[in-house]
Amino acid sequence: NSEDGQAEDYLFKIVLIGDSAVGKSNLLARFARDEFYPNSKSTIGVEFQTQKLNIDGKEIKAQIWDTAGQERFRAVTSAYYRGAVGALLVYDISRRQTFDSVGRWLNELHTYSDMNVITVLVGNKSDLKDAREVSAAEGKTLAEAQGLFFMETSALDSSNVAAAFRTVVKEIYGVLK
Ligand code: GDP
Ligand code: MG
Repeated sequence: NSEDGQAEDYLFKIVLIGDSAVGKSNLLARFARDEFYPNSKSTIGVEFQTQKLNIDGKEIKAQIWDTAGQERFRAVTSAYYRGAVGALLVYDISRRQTFDSVGRWLNELHTYSDMNVITVLVGNKSDLKDAREVSAAEGKTLAEAQGLFFMETSALDSSNVAAAFRTVVKEIYGVLK
């Protein structure tokens, strides 16, 4: 507590959701370990990874959960969502089908977790410029309509990866403080 000068503890559970192969596990690998797997299999996912972030001088632990490939079988369980205060809802800008799934993921998120879970819509693989099927404007419009934050990222070239995770943590902290 503040009287004895010890840091307060903040632990935020954040879930990664979105269709298979959009890059969820690689976003986490890039953020937590600065690693990237060019041909990753769904098995590389860990259950969760904890990262410390400093926001406004406060140390915050982000416990970031990865599906470890369960989404391929539409078997992401309620336990995965339980207690989540933040989410990164990821699609692949080079596959429109993954963008079309965003509504279904939002429904699931709101079914199993609090309605107020802070969510960032993440258009990943922004490095695949020639294969783009979803414009940044479309992503932004959908995010605004659904009350989500929005960002395009690339786990391959690192762009905006830390920013996406920082945004969700910062916004959660902003609500709580
Ligand atoms: P997940 O199923 O959502 O966890 O997706 P993965 O992280 O396993 O990634 C699926 C595939 O997309 C892998 O072959 C990754 O190397 C590739 N990938 C992930 N992120 C990016 C990215 O930002 N750019 C590109 N070009 N490929 C990516
Ligand atoms: Mg994965």
